[in-house]
Amino acid sequence: MRIVRFTLFALFAFVLLGLGALVFLVNSYPTVQFPDPLKQNPATGVRTLFLGTSSMAWTDGQSTWLVDGFFSRQPLSEVAFTRLKVNETQVGAVATEMFKRLNMPSVLSGILVAHSHYDHSMDAPFLAKQYGARVVGSESTLQIAKGQDLPNTQMEVVPGGGRVKLGEFDIQLIQSAHAPTGFTGGFNSKPVYLPAHALQFKEGISYSFVVSHPSLGSGPFALIQPSAGYVEGQNKGVSVKHVFLGMGGLGKLSDAYIENYWQEMVVRTQAKHVYLIHWDDFTQPLIKEGDPVALKPMPKLLDDLPRSLELLNMFSERDRVTLHVLDAWQMVNF
Ligand SMILES: [Zn+2]
Repeated sequence: MRIVRFTLFALFAFVLLGLGALVFLVNSYPTVQFPDPLKQNPATGVRTLFLGTSSMAWTDGQSTWLVDGFFSRQPLSEVAFTRLKVNETQVGAVATEMFKRLNMPSVLSGILVAHSHYDHSMDAPFLAKQYGARVVGSESTLQIAKGQDLPNTQMEVVPGGGRVKLGEFDIQLIQSAHAPTGFTGGFNSKPVYLPAHALQFKEGISYSFVVSHPSLGSGPFALIQPSAGYVEGQNKGVSVKHVFLGMGGLGKLSDAYIENYWQEMVVRTQAKHVYLIHWDDFTQPLIKEGDPVALKPMPKLLDDLPRSLELLNMFSERDRVTLHVLDAWQMVNF
């Protein structure tokens, strides 16, 4: 009897210790030195406001559109243990602050969804309904929009890639790849009704976006790479000055992978300015008690930003490219 009791006690202590270690690891954040803080200019001309993960609001003073628009950013405990729904209060608060900073009326012409994981796709249908946008993405993203009752007239599927016009913006969607994180692959073949667990949002197709605007010349000026994946040769013939480079999970991949990624996104496109996105812990809010807050890197368990940053710093010096880590609420003017 005593042995049984002892074994049970040991087992319980072991589980408790394991849980403690896990909690410690997911709460353990690296310290990061950010290069070159970005100078903030007034809200005029073509500009983009960064909003964590790969969420960004773009405007030219006429039309405003989003990449993703994931603002719910539910805390880790909710993501791990519950089924998720849109945090409408939080999404509304972030959107209000976003339009204010952009100095634009509360209207969206489109929302381009990078892929269908919840941290990209979940809030897009809600935002589309609130601000009159159409949601553009893959068939898997369409199923998420259907699950939230978005009318068909506000959905546009771009299967393997294509172009969309949003006001004077012209955006090319290129089929790309997700960072190999272990959470990739799969399609949503049925509507994703909320509440839904984070893992129910399958990746679908991962896109890159190449952005043009007539006020900035006839060719494209920016490439947005939401996820840290690539298809070799995907950017053949694409030449841009600015690259918004997704970082999620990159720090856990090999040196060779990181260098090839840089090669395809930055060297091949002959970019001069690189802005790092999707480096943040998306279980932390963008607004807390009414105040916009700064981002935190991903916990050490999931990523190693100091490592990927060190490599990218090296490549940027070698290739004479400026490198910025975008914080939430920072604006880039073109
Ligand atoms: Zn993803």
